[in-house]
Amino acid sequence: MKISELFNKKKTVFSFEVFPPKKNSPVETIYNTLDSLKELSPDFISVTYGAGGSSADNITAKIAGYIKNDLGIESVAHLTCLNNTKKDVLDILSEFKKNNIENILALRGDRNPDIEPAKDFEYASDMVTFIHENGDFHVSGACYPECHMESASLVDDVINLRKKVDSGVTHLMSQLFFDNSYFYDFLEKAKIAGINIPIEAGIMPVVNKSQIERMVSMCGASLPPKFVKMMQKYESNPEALRDAGIAYAIDQIVDLISNGVDGIHLYTMNNPYIAKKISEGVSSLL
Ligand code: FAD
Repeated sequence: MKISELFNKKKTVFSFEVFPPKKNSPVETIYNTLDSLKELSPDFISVTYGAGGSSADNITAKIAGYIKNDLGIESVAHLTCLNNTKKDVLDILSEFKKNNIENILALRGDRNPDIEPAKDFEYASDMVTFIHENGDFHVSGACYPECHMESASLVDDVINLRKKVDSGVTHLMSQLFFDNSYFYDFLEKAKIAGINIPIEAGIMPVVNKSQIERMVSMCGASLPPKFVKMMQKYESNPEALRDAGIAYAIDQIVDLISNGVDGIHLYTMNNPYIAKKISEGVSSLL
């Protein structure tokens, strides 16, 4: 099923994100995690590309295929284009097709100073057009409530987002954020720019302090005082920090659902315990 169809059927779509196991770990190591996540009945599960795992043997396609074909849950395969040639993308699309994958999150990918870009695609939107020319896939895109790091302003970023939507993206998943007011402000601007497709809010629960510090330095999300206080108070008590993080994520999700958000995309960090606690906390609201 194409992801955009889910939004016609459900008041609030609830989805998960997982990442492939680290290089040298067998792909099977994630199957137990996925089997546990299945119990929580997410509307779909997306699988990251290149982040942690090896893209050479297309582990993303294998995992997204397992989710769809073995677990019977809709899957979305992430795919980045900065370091891929058109030929690479065609090969990956055929791998996706073989695995029965219908949905792709088309991304540019982050610049790596040690890797010279392939230069066939400059922006994610270039690959979106290319995917549509070369297959029958539903294509989602990424968006940034606090502005993408390379954009001068949120308005510029939203103008570029509109170009991405016009290239054939029919669903957006947001970068993580900890202060919902940024998300609401972003939704306003997206609406003014004429973006009328479903936008899912990206929620990342705290697993531990170093994980949050790493993510925040990578994506620049603001940390509200309430959140910083919580991290400081429980930083040396991992269990308490985890529970406080779960409560914080639930609080964010309740507010988002009350404000009529299209969907919640939970960054599970491959942790079924946390995903379960959060799902249980919000399931009656969805
Ligand atoms: P783009 O949409 O191409 O935007 C990149 C920058 O270019 C922005 O500043 C934008 O404003 C600007 N821009 C876009 N179009 C134009 C234009 N026509 N003219 C001028 N400027 C333009 N990374 C991975 O490596 N693997 C993953 O699996 C992965 N999953 C992700 C999932 C989500 C939900 C999100 C939010 C991000 C994910 N990322 C992943 C990170 C992503 O690759 C980076 O954030 C990357 O820097 C930008 O990708 P993008 O697709 O948003 O780029």
